[in-house]
Amino acid sequence: MISVEGVTKVFGRNTAVDNATFSVERPGMIGIIGRSGAGKSTFLRMMNRLTDATEGRLLFEGRDVLALKGAEKRAWQSQCAMIFQQFNLVPRMDVVSNVLHGLLNRRGTMATMFNLWPAADINRAIDILDRLGIAEQAPKRAEALSGGQQQRVAIARALMQDPKVILADEPIASLDPMNAQVVMDALRRIHDEDGRTVIANLHTLDTARRYCDRVIGMRGGRIVFDGTPDLLTTAA
Ligand code: ADP
Ligand code: ADP
Repeated sequence: MISVEGVTKVFGRNTAVDNATFSVERPGMIGIIGRSGAGKSTFLRMMNRLTDATEGRLLFEGRDVLALKGAEKRAWQSQCAMIFQQFNLVPRMDVVSNVLHGLLNRRGTMATMFNLWPAADINRAIDILDRLGIAEQAPKRAEALSGGQQQRVAIARALMQDPKVILADEPIASLDPMNAQVVMDALRRIHDEDGRTVIANLHTLDTARRYCDRVIGMRGGRIVFDGTPDLLTTAA
């Protein structure tokens, strides 16, 4: 499904990701762990093409993702939607409009500028919010919500794109333990029930152990561990 082959990202004299190779053969719930600066975030951003790899290949279902341009590149970015530590919502905009922004690539900027969305899109946005337990927040401004609710809005925005893969860059690092649990449970459910692959940068081994069936360990830009969490116990 996904094959990352010898991907490297160099910033000036600093190698953020160093010759990383891994593949996803079937849908999984995958955690990436490692210290701050290990290259986790750069790795995810390269997969999504938010940043371009210096070297290496990235194949998705046999297609060369790093060669995609324009509309095809944007289509890839919808297939592999990203969520972020700081949620990246539009704070003053209502929740449902934030979720609809997930369709920006598909519906174009006019829909966004004039907030004109087909009823079917709006209904779908509400359904997704409902599934995440926050439908009643739909008319509120994003900034009025708690962190855990805001991250669920970001997940809803990602789901609007019906992605095969969700890349989560430190999705719970800004949240208190209770909200962190709600968000991780939501990601786990999206994997279990929809069969989507989730790849999440996580700060702690505990979270990876609890939620993931596969753990990638990064250190100094390299992948130094790749296996089930129980193996990590013996390796670490
Ligand atoms: P992690 O997510 O594991 O904390 P990052 O991927 O953010 O690690 O960073 C890996 C390395 O790349 C760090 O040394 C960081 O300083 C460097 N780095 C990340 N982004 C940039 C950038 N835009 N410009 C220069 N260096 C960067
Ligand atoms: P310390 O040096 O503080 O004892 P480690 O070097 O064991 O810590 O681990 C540092 C980080 O690397 C941990 O926070 C964990 O997320 C991650 N880690 C732990 N074990 C492994 C491993 N076997 N492979 C890759 N990363 C690991």
